[in-house]
Amino acid sequence: MAEAGAAEHLQEEASSQPRVPSTRLALHSMDMSYSLQLGELWPSTRLALLCQQKYAALLNCFGDVAKMIREMERRGARDFVYEGRGDGAAPLGPAEDRPGPDPSCPAGSPVISGDTAPEMEHPIAVSPNLKCFTFPRGDITRFNPARPDSLRLLEYYLMDAASLLPVLILDVQPGHTVLDLCAAPGGKSLALLQTECCRHLAVNDISSSRLSRLRKILHSYVPKNIRTEDRLRITSFDGRHWGEVERNTFDRVLVDVPCTTDRHSVLEEDNNIFSRLRLRERQRLPLLQTQLLVSGILAAKPGGSIVYSTCSLSQLQNEYVVERAVQVAKTEHNVELQLVDLTAIRTLYSDTFNFYGHCRVGELVLPHLTANFGPMYFCKLHRVH
Ligand code: SAM
Repeated sequence: MAEAGAAEHLQEEASSQPRVPSTRLALHSMDMSYSLQLGELWPSTRLALLCQQKYAALLNCFGDVAKMIREMERRGARDFVYEGRGDGAAPLGPAEDRPGPDPSCPAGSPVISGDTAPEMEHPIAVSPNLKCFTFPRGDITRFNPARPDSLRLLEYYLMDAASLLPVLILDVQPGHTVLDLCAAPGGKSLALLQTECCRHLAVNDISSSRLSRLRKILHSYVPKNIRTEDRLRITSFDGRHWGEVERNTFDRVLVDVPCTTDRHSVLEEDNNIFSRLRLRERQRLPLLQTQLLVSGILAAKPGGSIVYSTCSLSQLQNEYVVERAVQVAKTEHNVELQLVDLTAIRTLYSDTFNFYGHCRVGELVLPHLTANFGPMYFCKLHRVH
């Protein structure tokens, strides 16, 4: 009742104030916080956020890939995953397996960090099925909408190339069981299925309307024999409670949380989280994100890995959430985690993305006019026990 009263009060207050567009409120809030957080990098990041985003085409591995590769190359696009792939791929291991302390890790941090100068071998064994084409830096050519092929599956999926990075670092290997805790509308679930490595993929989202979009996407790209119940399970639970029900289960867990979706928030009025009516919801995001991440950690098997990601630049929603979740996992659930060093990923994909490089934990892709992908923050944790 008190909540309802407060919401009504907020609504009255909001309607009595002159209407300021939510996009303007978003930009104002970001100017205040990100100019401090990013310093001299904020003006160029701000400009890129306000300009047209760059897209990539994730080829549909269930279609005629050879034909699509030829077509993409003819148009001058290149597969950024392949270019970064290299031979002799070694698995991305917990940071503690590698020598040397990380001077950037603050004293008392619950997260164990790793070396700062990893060797230039590929740190993950990327599925050869993942082929994602982009135009080179500075080239803003756009892809045409995908067409259905002879099997009536769409040829490629248009996405922010940076959205593929959390999937790449999840490092799904053949036979793995995988949970995508906040999955809709489904771009990352689709990429996970494209690896053809998941023995079982559990796809969850609290929003049934967003799950309908996800179902449509999977239907348009994935053949029926892959969408069988034993391989793909679609549910609509509150992800915060997943770890209570299905603990210690998955080899890999992706926790791609709701966030302030910075690019959307400065450009679109529709469903804008900076609307005055959604102030409380916005303020509670870090708590919700931490609860979702802890739940994802508990759902992972000991020895398994968890990737946390957002499409926000906010430290409060990124590093702070990871650090807090690691602390909660340890103190409340006796679960030990190690931070996986992602420096090598930053080095490998620096031709394609503009990385920030100064996160205390995890990595952040900053939008830039020459490579207008992101924002995308991601961090990988290894569950020790
Ligand atoms: N991973 C998706 C993709 O790649 O297309 C994008 C996920 S979006 C950033 C965050 C999602 O979290 C939203 O679809 C939202 O409905 C969902 N969500 C919000 N609260 C949740 C909760 N408590 N449990 C599960 N999902 C939640």
